[in-house]
Amino acid sequence: AVKERGRSDFRFYQRQMNIGLLARVKLDQALRQALKQGRLQLHYQPKVDLNSGQVVGVEALARWHDEEYGNVLPARFIPVAEESGAIVPLGAWVLDQAVTQAGAWRKAGLLLPVAINISAVEFNQSGFVKLVAEALERHQVPGECLELELTESILVVDANEAMARLKSLRELGVRLSIDDFGTGYSSLAYLKRFPVERLKIDQSFVADIPGDQEDEAIAVAVIELGRALKLRVTAEGVENQAQLDFLKQRGCTEGQGFHFSKALPAPELTARFAKQLVKV
Ligand code: C2E
Ligand code: MG
Ligand code: MG
Ligand code: MG
Repeated sequence: AVKERGRSDFRFYQRQMNIGLLARVKLDQALRQALKQGRLQLHYQPKVDLNSGQVVGVEALARWHDEEYGNVLPARFIPVAEESGAIVPLGAWVLDQAVTQAGAWRKAGLLLPVAINISAVEFNQSGFVKLVAEALERHQVPGECLELELTESILVVDANEAMARLKSLRELGVRLSIDDFGTGYSSLAYLKRFPVERLKIDQSFVADIPGDQEDEAIAVAVIELGRALKLRVTAEGVENQAQLDFLKQRGCTEGQGFHFSKALPAPELTARFAKQLVKV
C-alpha cells in the first residue's frame, strides 16, 4: 500500500509539475503578446532625500494588466521572462521607455534620473552596453539621466567581464546602483572595486525596524558602509514614520517606499510631487 501511495503521489507530483510548466509557458506567451501590443506600462516610484524631502530620482517598475490574468505582479512574470528569455525584449522595451521619459523630464527642466532594474540575464548579453548606448543616442539623452539597478547576481557568471561592462557603462555617464543589497553573495572586496554610486538596502531589512535587533544592526551596517565608501544609500520599503525616524537618526540619506508613494504613472508622479522636484 505504501508503494502504491508513493507511486500515485509521484504521478500527482508529476502532474502538478506539468501544470506548472504549462502555466508558465502560457504566461510567457501572454506576456510576449502584451509587450508586442503595447499593453505593458512603466510606473515610477520616487526616491526621497530624507533631509530635504526632495525627490532625487525615480525607479521605473514594469506594470502589466492582462484581460485574462488581471494585474500580474513583476514577482510573477519577471522570473518567467528570465527563464524563457522574454526578459531580453522586455528589458529592451523598459530601457527605451525609461530613456524616453528621462529625456522628457529633462526637457521639462527637471533633474529626475530614471532607474531601471536589470536582470543578470540582460546584463550578461554580449550586446548589453551597446544597447544602452544606442538608447541614449537615439533619444539624445545624457547618460547621467539613467541609472541601472543591478543585483549582486551579475557577478556570478564572470566577475572580470562584469567589471569591464560596468566600467563601459560608467564611461557613458550612466549611474549604477546595487539593488537588494545584503541579500546576495558579493564580497566587500568587489564592492570596493565596483564603480557604483548607490546601495539600496533590501526591504527585508527595513520591514521590522525599529524593533528587530538583527535587522537594525544590518541596516546600520549598510548605512555606515555606504558612508565609509562614499556611496549613496537608499532604504527600500519604507512604509511608516517609525522606520523613517530610525533610518534618519542612523544617518541614512534616502528612502523609497509606500510611506512616500507607490509607483505611479509619470504624469501623476510629477503632479503629486511638483513641490519636491529638483530643477536642472
Ligand atoms: P525591486 O527592484 O527591489 O523593486 C522594489 C519593489 O518593492 C517593487 O515591487 C515596489 O513596488 C515594491 N515596494 C516599493 N515600496 C514598497 C513598500 O513600502 N513596501 C513593500 N512591501 N513593497 C514596496 P514590484 O514593482 O512588484 O517589483 C518587484 C521586483 O520585480 C523588483 O524589485 C525588481 O526586481 C523586479 N522588476 C520590476 N520591474 C522590472 C523590470 O522592468 N525589469 C526587471 N528586470 N525587473 C523588474
Ligand atoms: Mg529595483
Ligand atoms: Mg530592491
Ligand atoms: Mg527585488
